[in-house]
Amino acid sequence: MSTGSSSFDSPSLDATVESLAAGELWTPPSRRSRRPPKPLAAAPPVGPRSETLRTQASVVAEPSPAPTADEPLNAPIVADLPSALLSWRRRYDYLLGSLSSTVIHMLAVILLGLWLMSLDDDGPPVTLVVSTGSADDDTMLADLQAPLAIEPPEPAGDMQVEHLQEDDPFSPQDPVPTLAVGGPADSLAAPEIELPIGAGSIFAGRSQRSRAELVASGGGSSISEAAVAAGLRWLADHQLDDGSWRLDKFHDAQLCRGRCDGHGGPCDTGGTALALLPFLAAGQTHTSGPYATVVASGLLWLKQHQAESGDLRGVGIGQMYAHALATIALCEAFALTKDKSLADPAQRALDYIANAQHQQGGWRYQPRQPGDTSVVGWQVMALRSGQLAYLRVADRVLAGAGRFLDRTQVYPAPALYTYTPGGPATRTMTAEGLLCRQYLGWPRNNPGLTGGVEYLLENLPRRDSPDIYYWYYGTQVLHHFGGEPWELWNSHMRDTLVEMQSGSGHEAGSWDPVGPFADSGGRLYMTSLALLTLEVYYRHMPLYQKQAVK
Ligand SMILES: [Zn+2]
Repeated sequence: MSTGSSSFDSPSLDATVESLAAGELWTPPSRRSRRPPKPLAAAPPVGPRSETLRTQASVVAEPSPAPTADEPLNAPIVADLPSALLSWRRRYDYLLGSLSSTVIHMLAVILLGLWLMSLDDDGPPVTLVVSTGSADDDTMLADLQAPLAIEPPEPAGDMQVEHLQEDDPFSPQDPVPTLAVGGPADSLAAPEIELPIGAGSIFAGRSQRSRAELVASGGGSSISEAAVAAGLRWLADHQLDDGSWRLDKFHDAQLCRGRCDGHGGPCDTGGTALALLPFLAAGQTHTSGPYATVVASGLLWLKQHQAESGDLRGVGIGQMYAHALATIALCEAFALTKDKSLADPAQRALDYIANAQHQQGGWRYQPRQPGDTSVVGWQVMALRSGQLAYLRVADRVLAGAGRFLDRTQVYPAPALYTYTPGGPATRTMTAEGLLCRQYLGWPRNNPGLTGGVEYLLENLPRRDSPDIYYWYYGTQVLHHFGGEPWELWNSHMRDTLVEMQSGSGHEAGSWDPVGPFADSGGRLYMTSLALLTLEVYYRHMPLYQKQAVK
């Protein structure tokens, strides 16, 4: 469903593409600098349409709090020297201005980094990066100016985004059926529903200053954080030249050239979204952090492969799974950066989910099929990501999901769940069903939830019974639930995953595909879910606790 530029004719995206083509956001890796690129919406266009687009872009562009906001956005890769000096002078001034309020934080980061390196001499390289972010606690964006303390990837060869044209061999040859959707998102600032608990702050843990606290208080460790760092590097090294990741072709990446095994089935939008999510979970966006160019090209590829209807199912297996994953990626990127060029694609993706819902409330591989709990869970997570990004999600859609869950729940307490109505309960569907219930409003003391948590604790993560899909959902349920159940689960999950990470060869940093879906998901799927699981400490703030981190 490579639909060409007409479907993505928003001025900001055009501006982005042109800006990327000009080498601003997306420079060949051999020429990458560590300077964060501009927000996708912020780059003014060049070329014959520039006047019109400049006007429109000025409407949608979000003023960036970054100290480089007034740099020439369409500057060549090597800016003219006076501008560069001026830019760096501004950064310097800005840093000085922020220094007094961030000095304590910086010291804490330095001490943490030294401690971490001393504990993990054999681990992947971890670079200490001192925050130069704004001290303004009121905006998440300001927090996210702080780069993650992770070494950026090695150059991965020349990457160009302008190759995404009709001859993309991964594009489907037949038109993909589309659903009728409502008009364009015209009231994004006015959600129709009451905002859920934690809305707007559930992503707050992803800022650099919150991460260290949450890792320590939530039960993570320097070792688990080193595993995350190595995993992100592996993902970056296996991004394809066009900005995408593919479950079946990650080893075609220039840095890999077939050295890694474990490819899965064909899946382009789903693979790309799966790879983007661990970066976003760690606060790495297209506007900040050492992986900014990696994230930017991945997000751009997703946007360019979205149909007018919002459809992001892409090519290959998974379909509505892939759509939900891509929706989560767009919603999270929007929520973290407030880049308004992402609002419409994210809203259209949410609308597509709403329109794909079966009349009895479920979702399955294709739109409007009777549901299964597995696909339903991903749609619920996507819809909640949209709500948390203050996008529009109708109450009736989530209420329908709740009705579907009523039909796959076998007991009131403990609440155990089946794949489809009438089937046997499984631990995996129970974990996924319970997480949906938590996000749909069950209180912590709901007997179905407390009983379900006990059931999950009888099925702790064990290396001799690997099941990353179950661990991914179970970990989130227990993390939100908190307390001793979480401590017990976490100690098993964390150490098991760290032990299972590949430590040698080009696979180093990834996870060998084992357990359910190992063949269809492959190494990239396994690695992404393992990373998201290890990032649980800061990916989402716990639903049932007062937000300790502002
Ligand atoms: Zn490789």
